[in-house]
Amino acid sequence: MLIMGPPGCGKGTQAERLSRHLGITVVSTGEVFRDHVKNRTPLGREVIVHLDAGDLVPDTLTNRVVRERLDQDDVRGGFLLDGYPRNTAQLAELDVILAANGHGLDAALELSVDDAELVRRLLHRATLAGRSDDTEDVIRHRLELYHHETEPVAAACSRRGILLSVDGMGSEDQIFDRLLAALRASFPDAAAAT
Ligand code: ADP
Repeated sequence: MLIMGPPGCGKGTQAERLSRHLGITVVSTGEVFRDHVKNRTPLGREVIVHLDAGDLVPDTLTNRVVRERLDQDDVRGGFLLDGYPRNTAQLAELDVILAANGHGLDAALELSVDDAELVRRLLHRATLAGRSDDTEDVIRHRLELYHHETEPVAAACSRRGILLSVDGMGSEDQIFDRLLAALRASFPDAAAAT
């Protein structure tokens, strides 16, 4: 599965909760990149300019990171991707990676939140967590990129009939309940797990 939504929609938080609840591993490309930056690895040195500018890390790097991560044992039983794919080229690459193992995407969860609320949340986060990409200009740029690059991924998932769109306005608990309800409705056979 994957979880998508604009920056500040709360997908990281909800991905962690879903992971604990369903017992599946979260693969967050943003977290992977931030860890590399923190640990000053060669990849970290390559991606930091893109992160700080709120730009997408080039597909070649991102796809390689995901391909290597999805090759590890802890994702054999399934996984929840957070932050990938972020454009249609990455979606095509994910299809190739999954098909190589005889798999395909089961579901794409999408959290929708309006832009004004997102900017408000991200500016608030900036005062707490101090993420280097949470400044107003960079936030607006990341939002624009989301609308232009990532919304087409949601549209493609919708055409495949795997998009589960959930209202991302409300409390963390409310949104979590909506996500579980959407999963239950789509996968009645797996409902026991949720
Ligand atoms: P947010 O959704 O709040 O922007 P993320 O943690 O998902 O936060 O991503 C942070 C940054 O990491 C992005 O702005 C981008 O620079 C980089 N990044 C994460 N995932 C991808 C991806 N799939 N492709 C390219 N860049 C990515």
